[in-house]
Amino acid sequence: MRGNCHTGNITVIEEQGVTVYGGGTNRDGGWHVMAEVPDLALGPRGVMRSVHYKDIIPDGWKCASAFITKQVPILIEIDWPDFSIPNNLGKEFWLALVDDIKEKGIKTVSCQCMGGHGRTGVQLAILMHYLTPEDRRTWSDTADLIMEVRRRMCEHCVESKEQQYYIAEVCDLPEGESVIESRGFESAWNNISVSEDDIAKAMMDDKKPKRKSKKKKQGSLKQWLTPPKEHFGENGERILTEEVDGGTRTTTIDKDGKVSSEWRGKRKSVQKGWKAMLCLDNDRTVWMPEDEEVPKDSWTRVDGDIDGFSDQFCAATGDTFHPLEMHDAQTSKLAMAQFAELEINNDNRVKVRGRWYHPAFLEFDEDKMEVMLASDLWKEASKKESEE
Ligand SMILES: [Zn+2]
Repeated sequence: MRGNCHTGNITVIEEQGVTVYGGGTNRDGGWHVMAEVPDLALGPRGVMRSVHYKDIIPDGWKCASAFITKQVPILIEIDWPDFSIPNNLGKEFWLALVDDIKEKGIKTVSCQCMGGHGRTGVQLAILMHYLTPEDRRTWSDTADLIMEVRRRMCEHCVESKEQQYYIAEVCDLPEGESVIESRGFESAWNNISVSEDDIAKAMMDDKKPKRKSKKKKQGSLKQWLTPPKEHFGENGERILTEEVDGGTRTTTIDKDGKVSSEWRGKRKSVQKGWKAMLCLDNDRTVWMPEDEEVPKDSWTRVDGDIDGFSDQFCAATGDTFHPLEMHDAQTSKLAMAQFAELEINNDNRVKVRGRWYHPAFLEFDEDKMEVMLASDLWKEASKKESEE
């Protein structure tokens, strides 16, 4: 799938003396394959260091002087799940980053992710908007901006509705028409396509939410946010246990890095032609088409029982699903808002402090156990950080 699109690092932006490249690490792109090391490399955590970019040698050892030093760019690694938006940063980050690029004399920037489409597309769109002087911007809304990125980089750039809304918020642009196709690819199980209207209607019509008690509801949200429990076994193996999908998943990583996984609970069928791959850099498991190629040094195939790899809680159904199985993250956020008893209008906007927001901009605050605006969470987090 998508085998015949871009490869390597593509020059996407040349503005104000800054050149920005885009690439995907499994399409021969990324900073580490550039002939000339860029000044700055930007991308999701887990992608930037998946190549062995640095040797580590103990201090004081003679052999340390005999190895070849490789130049490494300034790295910015962002907590940023596939198909999604950054977990911890919004507009303030990107504005400050553009300032930093100018003030620190950065001339070359490499933007990357695994495939060079979704998360790379978001980085390129935002940098293109802010590096291009206003009178030279050919776009008036986010849809146009994304189309410009696609024209320069690859037609598959920017992959989810959530990403389009994120770009709109960060760039202060109207969203424009959706440029995201509903693809069967989003679901490994079937090709159902649900319009936003359908979801809104279903949610409005559902007068009998499946979870009534507040206590139970919060428990579910908490479960959604809880990372796997981790302990070490008798032979030093790492064991992760997780309550998912009405069962328990136990993943064991032995000292040689061999991964095995077992899940006990109710069954779900998986469509033929898909495989479960575990990313060794960030312990995330992702469904991929059987023929999708990923770097061998950072991914391993999970054999055996793979039914339990479902980690995204859907507040609409009360079950957990693999992210690829969800209609989209927006559905989940809308459901979260509904359970928090926030007002939702016919355009799927959620009322927070008297204003209507797209659900992509809602986050669940683990400390306060309440739904908040992502931008407020970002602000609070950066305030906390600067106080520390
Ligand atoms: Zn492409």
